[in-house]
Amino acid sequence: MRKLVRADSVVRHDGVLGDTVLIQNGAIFAIGQYGDLATPDVAEKHFPGGTIIPGLCDAHFHPIWYADLLHGISLKSATSITEVQKRLRRAAEQRPGGEAIHASRLDDDHLVDRRLPTATELDDAVADRPVIVTRYCGHVASVNTAALAAAGVTSATPDPPGGSLDRDDAGTPTGVLRETAIGIVSDAVPRPRVQPNELLHAMRMLAGLGLTSIGAMLRFGDEVDAMVAVADRLPIKVHAYVIAETTNELRAAKLTIDAASGRLIWQGLKRFADGSFGAHTAAMFEPFADVDTIGTMRLTDHDAALAKESLALGGDVAFHGIGDRAVAAILDQFEDLIADGYDPTRFRIEHASVLTGDLIDRFARTGVIASVQPAFLPSEIDWLETRVGTERLPRTYPLRSLLDAGALLAGGSDCPVEAPNPFWGMAAAIDRAGIVPEEGLTSAEALALFTQGSGAALKQPPPVAIGSPADFIVVDRNPLTATPDELRTTIVLETYVDGVPVLVDRSLPWWDV
Ligand SMILES: [Zn+2]
Repeated sequence: MRKLVRADSVVRHDGVLGDTVLIQNGAIFAIGQYGDLATPDVAEKHFPGGTIIPGLCDAHFHPIWYADLLHGISLKSATSITEVQKRLRRAAEQRPGGEAIHASRLDDDHLVDRRLPTATELDDAVADRPVIVTRYCGHVASVNTAALAAAGVTSATPDPPGGSLDRDDAGTPTGVLRETAIGIVSDAVPRPRVQPNELLHAMRMLAGLGLTSIGAMLRFGDEVDAMVAVADRLPIKVHAYVIAETTNELRAAKLTIDAASGRLIWQGLKRFADGSFGAHTAAMFEPFADVDTIGTMRLTDHDAALAKESLALGGDVAFHGIGDRAVAAILDQFEDLIADGYDPTRFRIEHASVLTGDLIDRFARTGVIASVQPAFLPSEIDWLETRVGTERLPRTYPLRSLLDAGALLAGGSDCPVEAPNPFWGMAAAIDRAGIVPEEGLTSAEALALFTQGSGAALKQPPPVAIGSPADFIVVDRNPLTATPDELRTTIVLETYVDGVPVLVDRSLPWWDV
């Protein structure tokens, strides 16, 4: 079964390969000029004005949270507490029967009130059932009185380790919960589990954006189970990194994933070495510029033991490290394992946000992959310099320096921390929203970041190459010649996975913009 797909050109990060792709049995059989490949017996589809490029790959994605976002209540665009109340009231009307309300992505920096709502204010909107409103960053939440009551929270409730409850002068919790304190209420009022059709819809939306594969960060248990449940119907390839706490969990997750048929692939382990900029918990060598703390180091020998288990199971290792101190500690552990003979490309550091010259060299020298999210730049523009300081800003997300040193990069979005549109990530890698523009990439490097680079991190065959799976997309412009703003408005005309177009309604919302 052969099939031709023809456009104006076939473009990879390394140049133009022709105008036509010949597919056979889901793989790429030939690439070249239409006149050389066309034969009367082969079915063909022509996209005049279109460009064929590799299917895009997001190396760091949270698919369950993304599905939650599409089907839940997002407050990202709310501009006042009054509007938040109005939206919650409407959500309650749409959910009869006292079902708890979970809303996410509230950004208090964008509210005229410039603060989070209190329990009393949420009660004014909805009082007959628990309401949990999570901030955009996931590290702070506001809950109503019914939610506090469901969790048994009173003035006598102490702050948990690693978290706190905001209190008024009388010591009564105000409803604002920070870090681990969120868990007290969210454990008592769990989010409804994402439904298979909701998760599959979310994955189709990604296909519509041009993604043919993702590196999926999945918590052991509910998140792995949700993905396994749809494995045989996945429209795109999902490479699972399991957030496991024990070697038993890791082994169990690998068995479940391996047993699932379809496009779900066991990829390895995900762990955390530190926290975030937003919460001032990234582990830094020098204190943050705006708060006198060097953050929180979470990496221990237990992480090294889990990494060894993942490697023994044939999996890779992805450790989250944002601050330079965290990245150094991760590289120490990875270098020990590489010295034991493991292939360095089985190791990734997620985010690698603030680096030093020495750390950049260590990425290049070891061959450990830096898994980067250029879309952080435009979204952090208002506070990044205040937080890391003028001295560290040039080595924050230093994409150009990493590439020039010879480091391997994989592109991602960390969605739903950032939007899933890979063209937005590519554009941000080039123009960096104006933040230290000399660290920007070329168009070709940006395309490589989200194709060959992220694909290599997921151990995929080279994109759009003979013998590789026919995972490619047809877009309305050439990403090698488009400006960053043109990239941002790229339209995906068709998405092929294993040689078959993914059916997707591109008119449906894929983000809360
Ligand atoms: Zn993440």
